[in-house]
Amino acid sequence: MDKIYDYLVVGSGAAGLYFSILASRSGKVLLLTKNTLKESNTYYAQGGIASVEKHTDSFQQHIKDTIKAGDELCNEKAVEMVVSEGPGIINELISIGVKFTRDRSKGYYSLHKEGGHSKSRVFHFKDITGRELIRALTKMVRENSNITIIENMAAVDLLTEHQKEDSSLFNPRNITCYGIYAHDPKTKKIHKILSRSTILATGGSGQVYLHTSNPGVATGDGLAMAFRAGATVSNLEFYQFHPTTLYTEKEKENSFLISEAVRGFGGNLKTKDGKSFMHKYHRLKSLAPRDIVARAIDSEMKKRGDEFVYLDIRNFPANKIISTFPNIYKKCLDEGIDITKEMIPVVPAAHYQCGGIETDLHGKTDIKGLYAIGEVAQNGMHGANRLASNSLLDALVFAKISALSVEKYISRNVINFSDIKEWEYYHTERPIEKVVVSYLRNTIRRLVSEFIGIVRSDERLKMAEKMIDLLAWQARDYYMQTELSRETVELRNIADVAYLLVRFAGFRKESRGLHYNIDHPEKDNINWKKNTRLRSSGRRSKSVIIR
Ligand SMILES: Cc1cc2nc3c(=O)[nH]c(=O)nc-3n(C[C@H](O)[C@H](O)[C@H](O)COP(=O)(O)OP(=O)(O)OC[C@H]3O[C@@H](n4cnc5c(N)ncnc54)[C@H](O)[C@@H]3O)c2cc1C
Repeated sequence: MDKIYDYLVVGSGAAGLYFSILASRSGKVLLLTKNTLKESNTYYAQGGIASVEKHTDSFQQHIKDTIKAGDELCNEKAVEMVVSEGPGIINELISIGVKFTRDRSKGYYSLHKEGGHSKSRVFHFKDITGRELIRALTKMVRENSNITIIENMAAVDLLTEHQKEDSSLFNPRNITCYGIYAHDPKTKKIHKILSRSTILATGGSGQVYLHTSNPGVATGDGLAMAFRAGATVSNLEFYQFHPTTLYTEKEKENSFLISEAVRGFGGNLKTKDGKSFMHKYHRLKSLAPRDIVARAIDSEMKKRGDEFVYLDIRNFPANKIISTFPNIYKKCLDEGIDITKEMIPVVPAAHYQCGGIETDLHGKTDIKGLYAIGEVAQNGMHGANRLASNSLLDALVFAKISALSVEKYISRNVINFSDIKEWEYYHTERPIEKVVVSYLRNTIRRLVSEFIGIVRSDERLKMAEKMIDLLAWQARDYYMQTELSRETVELRNIADVAYLLVRFAGFRKESRGLHYNIDHPEKDNINWKKNTRLRSSGRRSKSVIIR
């Protein structure tokens, strides 16, 4: 009999690590991650974690700011829950050794103010908050004997009734998850991993765009796996672009982020000829919410035919710049830009997936035994647009809440693991040709960037849908016709995410939050003040149900 875990956690960002630590108190955890433990979106987070500080701020104010950014699509209960858990989470992090920068003059933590926040409330560690969080959490995970860690192994598909010997038992309205199939690139073997509960904490899908702040691991695997298995996914038309990533001439896997905090610090956006332009778009100028800033930059670049705009912080003292943003200073210097003397060339890049696998307020999906937390999930916190630094808070709070919920689920349910098939080796032994994979991957990414980017139109979306259908078909076919590899697993997932993005962007016939369509430029509360949702039939077919 195969070993059966209590908790199978897929992904080692803030959500997966924190969940594993909490769940290990009540059972055996298997933590699986496709790269090293540290490689994740979390590791690269700079700005910090938004949370109310009781003397200068209030829950009501943080809730109000979040809901305003979400453009009337947040689930207010989710927002209230996440915001009110904030101070507790910060205290717990401090108690397990996470460091936050202090403001010596005030005798308290230094709190940054970021775009869309009415108060300074972002706890941070210098400009490397994510790195610090990962340092402390991975240390705890590695020292915990109830957590088994497997690195460099990727989840490929979820195990459901569909993988049982008698798949006539499969009922798309009543699916249970029994674990996953995972691919080990060293042995080229597929492992069947069984668990009483499966927690997807696989993060975002920025790699579906050509320019992204997300590292190479962010290929939307969890989203694609859950959709293929029959989970409802929602609100994927809302993709946040970070307005300011460092522009370089060389093509890179991901773009280096120039944190929101640089605009909060007083950074001023300028066109290539040195003229400020944000006053034309918003009363908060360069500190306007991200979507407005990203659209403004996109519009200025398109109008002028420029590849970038500038962010200027030269009028601040050099020592203050270097001590506040040591990481950004160093990184830019490595690229030949001294930010104390020169303006920083910046472009918008895909940054945060606001939609995802639909969950309730406990991280529960509509597949039994399957939970989703962190960026892969759509739990109502962010609505049509995420407020800066609310995502790490969301990931940590949902990890905490769902750990309690999953514990109850596994203690109350007896799960029948019999008859689950080994991986079917329907793939051929034919090795992949890297040129095919990289051509398909880059073509899909370019198409998604140019047709489903910051500004959309009906015509471009219609064209993109047809082209993506063809490319996705080719990607899936190539995945089936060659030996299983990390490259083709990711290619299939990127293709499935592109398929979802174009459908979701096409559904919504209005402009709201991060979704802007020039053919429907107004917000339409009568018809569209609702989430968009999609569910596959659970088979490997294209049929979808829109509810
Ligand atoms: C550059 C940058 C800066 C940011 N700054 C901030 C900030 O200051 N504040 C803030 O709140 N948010 C910030 N964000 C967003 C925030 O970092 C993410 O939303 C958050 O870290 C997501 O955490 P997560 O645990 O859900 O996913 P991640 O941290 O992305 O972790 C996902 C994990 O899943 C693993 N994985 C993926 N697919 C598979 C698979 N098939 N099999 C096994 N493992 C898999 C990955 O390897 C990774 O370990 C930033 C994001 C970026 C990219």
